[in-house]
Amino acid sequence: MTDSLPHAPQGWPAFQPGWVWLCGAGPGDPGLLTLHALNALRQADVVVYDALVEPAILDWAPGAEHIYAGKRGGKPSSVQRDISLRLVELARAGKRVLRLKGGDPFVFGRGGEEAQTLVQHDVPIRIIPGISAGIGGLAYAGIPVTHRDVNQSVTFVTGHDQSGNTPQTLDWAAISRGSQVIVIYMGMKHIGQIAGALLDAGRAPSEPVAVVTQATTGDQRVVETTLARCADDIAAAALEPPAIICVGRATLMRQALDWQAMAAGAAPRNTDPLDRGRPAESA
Ligand code: SAH
Repeated sequence: MTDSLPHAPQGWPAFQPGWVWLCGAGPGDPGLLTLHALNALRQADVVVYDALVEPAILDWAPGAEHIYAGKRGGKPSSVQRDISLRLVELARAGKRVLRLKGGDPFVFGRGGEEAQTLVQHDVPIRIIPGISAGIGGLAYAGIPVTHRDVNQSVTFVTGHDQSGNTPQTLDWAAISRGSQVIVIYMGMKHIGQIAGALLDAGRAPSEPVAVVTQATTGDQRVVETTLARCADDIAAAALEPPAIICVGRATLMRQALDWQAMAAGAAPRNTDPLDRGRPAESA
């Protein structure tokens, strides 16, 4: 290749023809790609990418063919099967196939299913993890998914199942009891129902909630609300997916850790959002 984009030094994995590399693209900001992802982008013949992959990331593979395999919101699983079989075909045609998925391929991304179909068809694979929106996306909003003074566990849940409904298999009462912080993927459609289930399970109406849409991109929006108000506030703010919804006191940390505001010129704020009654620095 003659372009000036960086290549991996010697000793990095060589992309062999006939292989599929299943790779996380992170939540949006191309800077959150891993070096393995970059190494893959530099060598791929074809990049098969999802709707959630930020278009600017494809600029890092200018020599490759780009194939869109987007599907948003509860489409039939036959579409998924078509994508997997397309990958098989491309690999059998001797291509270096980079399957690029938003966030981490194994987190609510059906990466496991695609990988399984590939190996069932004797196609060799490599897995490249990515930064998941539920961690990295919240970090871009200044929200740590764990904080020693808030939670010792965090639960990642999906707000809808394959049919597009709230997953009936989820025991919201158990999740509510077991986890001080709950991070909800694909939760926008059913947020009213989900918030209701958490309230029924005993979570406080005043419990802080943050909704982060298009996290880590230039269009990121953050709405801070509460469990009782979140459905109305999401509607009032006309928020659109993709969104990560974080329930729990960890969201309060944003008041001190909104680093994007600092990047835009705001001064650091020495506050203790958790109101622990002692200076933050002694924690
Ligand atoms: N594999 C992905 C998740 C795919 S499921 C990952 O690890 O992040 C799709 C859901 O992910 C969206 O509905 C949304 O809840 C979340 N998501 C992905 N990218 C996002 C982004 N940039 N901002 C907010 N939410 C995002």
